[in-house]
Amino acid sequence: MIAWQTSATHTYTQKHNSFPVSFAMEKSSFSNMKLLMTECVSCVCVLGEYHPPPSPPTPGKEEGVPARRGSDGKLRGRKRVSDPAPPLDSDIERVFIWDLDETIIIFHSLLTGTFSSRFGKDSSKAVSLGLWMEEMIFNLADSRLFFNDLEECDQVHIDDVASDDNGQDLSTYNFGSDGFQSPAGAGSLCLGSGVHGGVDWMRKLAFRYRRVKEIYNTYKNNVGGLLGSPKREEWLQLRREMEVLTDLWLTQALKALALINSRPNCVNVLVTTTQLIPALSKVLLYGLGSAFPIENIYSATKTGKESCFERVSQRFGRRAVYVVIGDGAEEESVAKKKNMPFWRVSCRADLEALSHALELDYL
Ligand SMILES: [Mg+2]
Repeated sequence: MIAWQTSATHTYTQKHNSFPVSFAMEKSSFSNMKLLMTECVSCVCVLGEYHPPPSPPTPGKEEGVPARRGSDGKLRGRKRVSDPAPPLDSDIERVFIWDLDETIIIFHSLLTGTFSSRFGKDSSKAVSLGLWMEEMIFNLADSRLFFNDLEECDQVHIDDVASDDNGQDLSTYNFGSDGFQSPAGAGSLCLGSGVHGGVDWMRKLAFRYRRVKEIYNTYKNNVGGLLGSPKREEWLQLRREMEVLTDLWLTQALKALALINSRPNCVNVLVTTTQLIPALSKVLLYGLGSAFPIENIYSATKTGKESCFERVSQRFGRRAVYVVIGDGAEEESVAKKKNMPFWRVSCRADLEALSHALELDYL
């Protein structure tokens, strides 16, 4: 492996002191990548109303566009003149694999006091915001995303049990009385990996994941609508206070995510150690739904990050370049092992530098 040093890097390093990364890869990997960016995406978060940055269409945003059916009855895809279909996974040139906690969002370190002590913030305020967000995450997960049912039946990916779904209409389906949580204890059926319940039970499990996917796709750009009043107002206030306390950490992350999404052949993928359902709840509540199509979210709780990275690289293929962005030792070591460049996020400035590097087409 050759340290990635170019004249451009040198200039950048002089200007910004240093890359916050153990960034090493063959220069040739980047040589054929073209800068296909729009102007710097303006990411506005005035200390008041929250305005997530704009982002281009993602595969998930195509949900709801009816598939066309030809005279032979075959699906014709979802292409529209004004809204071109997203690139196939095999056409993706660069994949940015993000960690979630303490990389994109600040959550756990609020509760532990790490964030306040590290950045000189009011520790009691930090803890109270962390507890407030924790309550919202689990409330949403339990009330709308079936976390009570699915906690012991965690999956790596939203589609992992889709093959057990018979596709029946769920519009009048009663999830509360379908016997999923039988006295036998559904959890015991799921606890061991590979241990499955019967066909009926697996289908009910698949129905829940299908509904979660529908909810995510329906509300990913309208979380307030999902929460309803007065939770919506509470959530907006929490988001504002969180951004003030963290010096717009999330805003910076959203800027980098939007820059990546603005490129036609680049994609954001999330690999988190949080269980899938609470992870989806976090993604929605922190306003990341437009940055990550649900198909690009992986939970490493069951299998670890290395296995998820492997899965991601099988999905997008060998031709793609993979860049890992995170704060943790696990993603860093897996990135190193897989020869993927790693961008370490230790403070908000690391996210700013990431956006600069993206704007300048250094990665
Ligand atoms: Mg982390």
